[in-house]
Amino acid sequence: MAELPLFGGIELGGTKVVAAIGRADGTLLSSRTLPTTTPHHVIDQLIDYFQEHPVPIKGLGVGAFGPVVVDHSQPDYGCLLETNKPGWSGFDLAGGLAEGLNVPIHLVTDVAAAGFGEAQFGALRGVDLGVYLTIGTGIGGAILHKGLPLPAMLHPEMGHLSLERHPRDLAASTCRFHSNCAEGLAAGPAILARFGKSLSAYAPDDEELLLVADYLGQLCAQLVLLLSPHKIVLGGGVGQTPGLIDATQSAMLRRLGGYASQGTSAKGYLCPPELGQQAGIIGALACANTLLGAH
Ligand SMILES: [Zn+2]
Repeated sequence: MAELPLFGGIELGGTKVVAAIGRADGTLLSSRTLPTTTPHHVIDQLIDYFQEHPVPIKGLGVGAFGPVVVDHSQPDYGCLLETNKPGWSGFDLAGGLAEGLNVPIHLVTDVAAAGFGEAQFGALRGVDLGVYLTIGTGIGGAILHKGLPLPAMLHPEMGHLSLERHPRDLAASTCRFHSNCAEGLAAGPAILARFGKSLSAYAPDDEELLLVADYLGQLCAQLVLLLSPHKIVLGGGVGQTPGLIDATQSAMLRRLGGYASQGTSAKGYLCPPELGQQAGIIGALACANTLLGAH
């Protein structure tokens, strides 16, 4: 039997980069983790990694932190926009990789890659309309329609939807753009700034955890009202806090006030990612495969 072709995947995060070589069925053959230093240093190391492998890759899928231009029809496709990460604003990520590796590249956001991984091999498999939310150092989301990230002008920024603040929560928002957005109130840095501890320090019925669950529940309620997805996956480090998903679903239902309760109250409507921390890199590999149409 002929060997399946190999693909490359890159998950570019704000602090680390994961590169991997694998097959279209989601099997990882090797991977390497690098710190996210300067763009040119990272690109050189990535090109070395793929070129050292004895069998060349057929295509490369990239999931990158944003904001990044993911619309193939735009002249600056694959370029990072204004970002807090020093040296990366305006960097032509797809161009730099294409020049060094000479393979087709499919680039999406890191969240879309993780969502795509879940749609192909995990919790969103077979789900017509799904949302993948990541709650970690930021809050981001991807909408998956029939297994594919929904095409858009840029990409969704649902982590910056405005929420209703708890009247006694006077903590400053950690988002520099908004005073009441989900990321500014409920992402890891906001939790740490408000409580002085990460959410994992709290039990499921502690008021600190319930406050964060209320904010995430508001976000999920807005997504239900806007999109009516069949399922919402909550990923990211904060998302994996024991008891948070159940508390978030309860808060979501409370915020919906009895409206749109059909299906949304089912156990598992909000669920964790099945691929865990590997969703992003497996999704990036799957992006390469999809680009080439190989199976
Ligand atoms: Zn914001």
